[in-house]
Amino acid sequence: MKYQKIRGTADFLPDETNKWQYVENKIKDLLKQYYYQEIRLPIFEQFELFARGVGETSDIVSKEMYEFYDKGDRHLALRPEGTAGVVRAYVENKIYGPEYHKPVKYYYEGPMFRFERPQSGRMRQFHQIGVEVYGSKNPAVDVETMTLAMEIFKGFGIRNLSLVINSLGNTESRLAYREALIEFLTPHMDELSEDSQERLHKNPLRVLDSKDKRDQEIVKDAPSVLDYLDEESKAHFEAVKEMLELLEIPYEIDTNMVRGLDYYNDTIFEVITNDPNFGANTTICAGGRYDQLVEEVGGPTTPGFGFAIGLERLIMLLEGADFDFPKLTQLDAFVVTIGDEVNSEALKLVMALRKHGLTAEREFVGRKPGSQFKTADRLNAKTVFTLGSQELEDRKINMKLLETGKEVSLDFDTIYGDDFRKIYEETLQKLASEE
Ligand code: ATP
Ligand code: MG
Repeated sequence: MKYQKIRGTADFLPDETNKWQYVENKIKDLLKQYYYQEIRLPIFEQFELFARGVGETSDIVSKEMYEFYDKGDRHLALRPEGTAGVVRAYVENKIYGPEYHKPVKYYYEGPMFRFERPQSGRMRQFHQIGVEVYGSKNPAVDVETMTLAMEIFKGFGIRNLSLVINSLGNTESRLAYREALIEFLTPHMDELSEDSQERLHKNPLRVLDSKDKRDQEIVKDAPSVLDYLDEESKAHFEAVKEMLELLEIPYEIDTNMVRGLDYYNDTIFEVITNDPNFGANTTICAGGRYDQLVEEVGGPTTPGFGFAIGLERLIMLLEGADFDFPKLTQLDAFVVTIGDEVNSEALKLVMALRKHGLTAEREFVGRKPGSQFKTADRLNAKTVFTLGSQELEDRKINMKLLETGKEVSLDFDTIYGDDFRKIYEETLQKLASEE
């Protein structure tokens, strides 16, 4: 074979896209209930936006970015995540202005790109659905948004989920904590993994969520970020916990949880699954509060809160649980053709069926009638219309309900007439109730 897809990318054939569309539609319906609106943004942006927005020291920017220079020598990158672009659009389009209802609640969906080692649930082009809320520091926003994340998963009947939360406090308290952490980690310098040694001074908080077993042993006894919160952040975190309890949303606190992106403050959270189909504790949704990012990107001070769900992992989870994805396309009618002379009329007929709102397909490739009936069966068509030269002459055609094999003769004029949809439904009922 001459061409192959790029490592870490996937082709989604219809069996797959059916699942994806189902999942996406279901999530979008729920998002609507929470009054979210969709925003669609470019897939590539200035490299600098991500470097500043996501954070120079994050793994995403330092190791995983698809960056390139275009023919105009612009330094660009394929988006590795959605938030930076939404913030850029928020600022550029002055969505902070009074004509926009606050808080602004947007969702996005689409491919993200990270140069990672591909493995199950880890792709180089993967897909996220994410939400962003701008303009409120109210802890109720944190809780509503985390609840939404949990409701999305619950809506698919997913169990084995934990909501894990933490608070990173504000910039000052985080700086103080950072110092304390460096002080705690420095004596262990030699025992730390190579990655963590490197992070120790660049981004010591990231040592806390190292996947390395030895690192994990060491950070177990690290000072807790929660002990460094100021009064305001403490009150915020308390309010978040109270409201989660009020809504009866179970949660765990993990003081060692930080996020891979540098922009967060106060509440951060992950939805973690212990599904046996994944390695232990896989994150399927992550997010939190980011009150500085809009300013960082050049807008007025505007608090933000958001999360992103990895769709590959969500769908893998559902597949692992043998989730019954409903078929999105149900064929109402299949037109069987007998003989070349009916070709044009068959086209007119199938078009008329569609005009009446039915999902319809016809024979195109000249199979024998028997094999066409098998096709109709395989496509799970509800009804079959059989068109041969006799039908063409009589301008009448049989409509057959495949489930029972019962059929009825209809005039072409009826099918081409304005009332056919109603007649079709009545005929279906009649055929279904016939002995
Ligand atoms: P991980 O720790 O697994 O690398 P992350 O912290 O880099 O995740 P985020 O940037 O928070 O992930 O993205 C949110 C979600 O997007 C993740 O929880 C995951 O479900 C999904 N995700 C992230 N990277 C990938 C990837 N390379 N392939 C598939 N899904 C991904
Ligand atoms: Mg990652």
